[in-house]
Amino acid sequence: MKVVTLGTSGAIPTLRRNLPSVAIQRKGQIFLLDCGEGTQMQLMRSKLSISKMEKVFISHLHGDHLVGLPGLLMSLGHFSRQRPLFIYGPVGIKDYVLANRKYLKFYCEYEIVIEEVTEGIVCEEEEYWVEATTLDHNHRTFGYALIERQRPGKFLVDKARAFGIEEGPLFGKLQRGEDIKLDDGRIIHPEDVSGNPRRGRKVVYALDTRPCQNTVELSQGADLLVHDGMFSGNEEEEARLRGHSTVAQAARVALEAKVKKLILTHLSSRYPDDKPLLEEAKEIFPETIIARDLMEIEIPLPR
Ligand SMILES: [Zn+2]
Ligand SMILES: [Zn+2]
Repeated sequence: MKVVTLGTSGAIPTLRRNLPSVAIQRKGQIFLLDCGEGTQMQLMRSKLSISKMEKVFISHLHGDHLVGLPGLLMSLGHFSRQRPLFIYGPVGIKDYVLANRKYLKFYCEYEIVIEEVTEGIVCEEEEYWVEATTLDHNHRTFGYALIERQRPGKFLVDKARAFGIEEGPLFGKLQRGEDIKLDDGRIIHPEDVSGNPRRGRKVVYALDTRPCQNTVELSQGADLLVHDGMFSGNEEEEARLRGHSTVAQAARVALEAKVKKLILTHLSSRYPDDKPLLEEAKEIFPETIIARDLMEIEIPLPR
C-alpha cells in the first residue's frame, strides 16, 4: 500500500503546493481523499493510473477540497470507463456532482454512485472497510479511515507435519483456507496449522479540523495519520477561529492516538520554509513528516 500526497496546500495553491488531495494505492486500486483543483495534473505527475480510480472520499464542501472533481469525472469518461465510480461525502455532495453534470453537460457512460455519508461505516469490502467520523471544522466535515481486515496467520509447515500431513495438495487446501479430512477421519482446520492472525493496515485522513477527540478515536493505532497542519503554534487563535490545527496540536493528536507515523498537510501559504513547522511537531511526535506534493509513503504489511 502506498500513500501519495498529491496536493498539500490549504485554501489557495502556491507554485510548490497544489490544493488538497491524497491518493492511496492498494492492490492496483486507487482511493482518492479530496480532489482539490489541479488533482488530475498531480495524478499524471505521480504516475498513478487514473483508470484505476475506485472510490473518492470528500471530506467537506469547501472549494479547495472538491473543485477538481468535475474535471476528473469528465476525464474518466474519455478513458471509456465502464465500471462505476463511487463518491462519498457529506450531504450536498450529490447536488454538487449532479449540478456539475447538468451545467457542464458532460456525458459519461460509467455510473457515478454518490453516497452522502454519516458517521460510522461508509463502505465494506472483502479485504477492507472505510469508517467516517465528524471532525471539528467550520463546515460539516468527515475524517476517513481505511482499515484492512485481519489476515490469516502464517502457514506453519512443522505444525502441519506434526499432524501427519505431507507436503502436497492437502498443504495447498489448508493454505487456501479450506478444512481437510485425514485418512483417520480427523478434520484439520487451517487455523490448527497457522500462526496468530496478522493485523491489516490502517490509514486515516483528518482535514480540515481543529484537534478533536473523534480524530484520536478514529486514528487509534493507525499506521499513518494524515492531519491538518495549517499553522505554526504561534497562530493557535487563528487556527481555532478558522477551524484548523497547528502542527503542535496535530502532533498531540498523533501521540494520543499512538499512530505510527504522522503526515502534516494543508499548510498555509504563509510558510515558504516548512522546517520550523517540522521541528515544532517533532518535539511532540518524532515520527512526523511535513507533506510535500507528490511525496510517496509506503506502508508495509505488518508481519
Ligand atoms: Zn481546506
Ligand atoms: Zn475547510
